This record gives sequence, C-alpha cells and structure tokens, in this order.
Amino acid sequence: MRKLIVAGNWKMNTSVAEGVELAKKVSAYAEQKNLPAGKQIVIAPPFTHLAPVAQVINADKVILAAQDCAATKNGAYTGEVSASMLKGLGVKAVILGHSERRQYFKENSEILLKKIKLALEEGLDVIFCVGETKDQREAGQSLYFNVVKAQLVDTVFTLTKEEFSKIIIAYEPVWAIGTGLTASPEQAQEIHEFIRKEVAANFGDEVAQNTTILYGGSCKASNAAEIFAKKDVDGGLIGGAALKADDFGKIIDAR
Ligand code: PEP
Repeated sequence: MRKLIVAGNWKMNTSVAEGVELAKKVSAYAEQKNLPAGKQIVIAPPFTHLAPVAQVINADKVILAAQDCAATKNGAYTGEVSASMLKGLGVKAVILGHSERRQYFKENSEILLKKIKLALEEGLDVIFCVGETKDQREAGQSLYFNVVKAQLVDTVFTLTKEEFSKIIIAYEPVWAIGTGLTASPEQAQEIHEFIRKEVAANFGDEVAQNTTILYGGSCKASNAAEIFAKKDVDGGLIGGAALKADDFGKIIDAR
C-alpha cells in the first residue's frame, strides 16, 4: 500500500538527553493523534541516540530509522555501524543516499547499492534520497530529469520487484536542503510524477502506484500542506523543522 510518511532527519543535532526529550514529544503526539492506517511517522536520530530513543517511543506509532549504515556486513571497519547492529536496536528503516553523504563522504551509486542490499537483507526499509544540484537544475529539465533517473537506474532499479517494495524514495533537490529555498509544489509534482513514471517503466504500474515518494528540502509547517497536496507527493523528509516537536507536529498534520 502507498503510505503517507512524515520522516524527521535529525542529522548531527541534539545531545542524547535533548534527543530523548524530542522523541518522547513526537511519540506522545503520535499517540494522541491516532493516525489513520497508512500514515506513518519516522524519526532518524544520530546513532548514539538510537538505543535510548528506542526505549521511550511507542514503536507502534513511531518508526525508528537510522541516518546511514555500513556498506559491509561486519569486520575491521573502524567507526562503522552495520545494518544488523541497527536492527538489533529496534531500528526499522535507514536513510541512504542523502546528498550530504554523497557530497561529504563521496558515497556513489556503487557504495549505496551495497548499503541498500545489506539493509534489505536485515529487513530494514530504505528511504533512498535522490536529487539534483543547483547547477543541474539550472541546466534545464532534461538534465535534472536525467540526473535523478541515473541515481535510480544505478541503484534501486537493479533490485527485484520484491526488494523494491521496501524502498521509499525521497526526492530532495540539493539546492533546497537547509537553504530555505523550497521547490514549489509544481516543481515537486513535476519530478515526483517523472519518478513514478520511471518506477512504472521498470516495475510496472501497480508497483509505481504503491511506491511512496517523499519531498525533502526546506519543508516546514508553513509550506508542507501545499506541497503534500500534490498527487504524487506522499509526505516529506524533514531536516531542520524536525528538531522542534511543535513544528514537526504541524507538518505531520499537513495532510
Ligand atoms: C534533509 O536533510 O533531508 C532536509 C530535507 O533538510 P532541510 O529540511 O533542513 O532542508
């Protein structure tokens, strides 16, 4: 079933104590709202917060996600955290392919596909981020469409239909992340529709109709409703505005 998801990517923010408090508030909000089936709230705290946050959230109401996982299963990889370690903490999903990981940690499609496969092997859902840079956007539609298509073709489009059913796509234009510049609802719809058509071309219409495609990039309480109202936008991946429970709550309520 196509789900409506509002996911909070906390990035490298909050102390453990602050994160636990934020998670408690989000969980209490979710409990009080009694969300309809098919609408999900996801939070992705830093690795250090996952175990204590898992203790304080209602796992039936809030899905715990990680912001990354290792590209290898286990072994001598100092500093890395594997998908199976995350699974053991109660993590249900992982964000992969975020533009900050691509840009600062040089994660390419080859690395990302390894991460995706290991996450799926552990039964984790994957929120897979794609999106074009400012220069690519300014070069025109055929270029930014092709950039996004290539990010999908090289990774999640190589999966089986069954594997792909665990993928949530997040369209996050790099020029909109943390910049205060948001894609207009029309810009978001245009590319979400394109992504859904590409999913249909690869996996068929039924899979495409069931695929959740999130928008991310300076999405906040004041603009979420008009973006989420577009027919191919199934919620959002929220950065800065996910760090305040009230703001995140307003975004959850936006659709
Ligand atoms: C993000 O990093 O996934 C994101 C969407 O950030 P922001 O909402 O702060 O632009």
